[in-house]
Amino acid sequence: MDHAYLLTAVLPVIAAVLCTTLYSLWLKQREHRHVLNWSLAYACAVLGSAISLARLVIENAAPFSLVANAFLVGVAFFAARGALLLHGGRTADRITLPILLATILAGILFGFVSPSVFWRGTTASIGAAAIFLIAAKAIRQNPDRDRIDRLTGLVFVLTAATLVARPALAFVLEGPIASEAEVTSAFWGVSFRIFAMLSWCAMAVLFLLRATTDLMAEATAQSLTDPLTGIGNRRGFFAAAEAALATTGREAPATLLLCDIDAFKQVNDSHGHATGDLVIKELANVLSEATEGGGAILGRLGGEEFVVLLPGTPLEPAGAMAETIRTDFARRSRGIRPLQGPVTVSIGVAETTREDGIEAVIERADAALYRAKRKGRDRVEIAGSTGSAPPSPPRGTSHTRRHRRAFTAPGPRTRTRS
Ligand code: GH3
Ligand code: MG
Ligand code: MG
Repeated sequence: MDHAYLLTAVLPVIAAVLCTTLYSLWLKQREHRHVLNWSLAYACAVLGSAISLARLVIENAAPFSLVANAFLVGVAFFAARGALLLHGGRTADRITLPILLATILAGILFGFVSPSVFWRGTTASIGAAAIFLIAAKAIRQNPDRDRIDRLTGLVFVLTAATLVARPALAFVLEGPIASEAEVTSAFWGVSFRIFAMLSWCAMAVLFLLRATTDLMAEATAQSLTDPLTGIGNRRGFFAAAEAALATTGREAPATLLLCDIDAFKQVNDSHGHATGDLVIKELANVLSEATEGGGAILGRLGGEEFVVLLPGTPLEPAGAMAETIRTDFARRSRGIRPLQGPVTVSIGVAETTREDGIEAVIERADAALYRAKRKGRDRVEIAGSTGSAPPSPPRGTSHTRRHRRAFTAPGPRTRTRS
């Protein structure tokens, strides 16, 4: 078999592998419609290149060429559509679809009305190039773009450039290609297959990288989030708190509130676990609202225990905030049915020192919380101010002994995108 034929036969196989890989990735995360569009791009690549293959053994190839070209522009259409969805939040079908249709019309014109292999191929190439450039622009305009996105934009631009340069180069080397028979082995045909294979593979690697990176980031975010309240879980809190303390440095004050719902076991015992869950969610809401916009880091340490780190907030305003949280929660918990009275919260407040990290400040807040519980609950207790930490409570008297377990948590970065 001629090497040109072999190259033609390889393309649909490569495209099929890429199409099914992207499709199976989409099945794992169906809301990622951009991945489905990328899979459709490779479905078009399979059809376009397979029809091109059939063209080789068929006498009157013009109708086949028309359909093959439409699918090959379809590769650009869906590849760009996926990128536009991901980076712009919506497709640009109003612009890209007319371009696709215009290339089909040009295909009919140069296939049947005024036959020209050169112009049929060139108009399809220009249409596909225009679509790639539209997607590259959308990537460029996305402020959240990362290195993978930038590379994808670059591959789109390079693909567009080669799509336009190839017919020009073929024209210089061979003059206007005259017949279908010349297409396969001439520079015109061989160069198309090589460029298509390279750009399809480069795009697929980047699409797969984008999809798997996002999948991993989402799994990480889930592993750091408490499903009941939507705020950070223990791991999430420690990862974020340690990162925040590392960036703000030990110079700026940071204060920590340790909150524990009072007599929560009784709520569960009297009204059931589901009502208990509503109470937990209400405290999470109160904490989120009280700390909104201030760069606070919230976490549910477990059960009915919550923690709030307030970077850059000194002890006094943090204590006032704790007081607001305490009264707001008591007021709002009255509205939870079928509770008959308010549920209250006790809060221990402590400030970070230059020397110690998050674990030590939690210890001091825990000691303050223990005092609040001992004094009758429903109150805010402030730990001794910076540098004069009170001694830890005797062993076994800490309110939240669990805090002393494995404080270390990984700190992966979560990539957010719209
Ligand atoms: P204190 O005032 O001393 O804090 O007493 P408490 O009853 O609040 O504390 P205790 O530690 O005795 O009870 C906490 C209860 O929280 C026990 C546990 O069954 C319940 N709990 C833990 N996780 C959840 C949860 O996710 N949902 C609900 N509804 N209850 C939970
Ligand atoms: Mg409690
Ligand atoms: Mg507790």
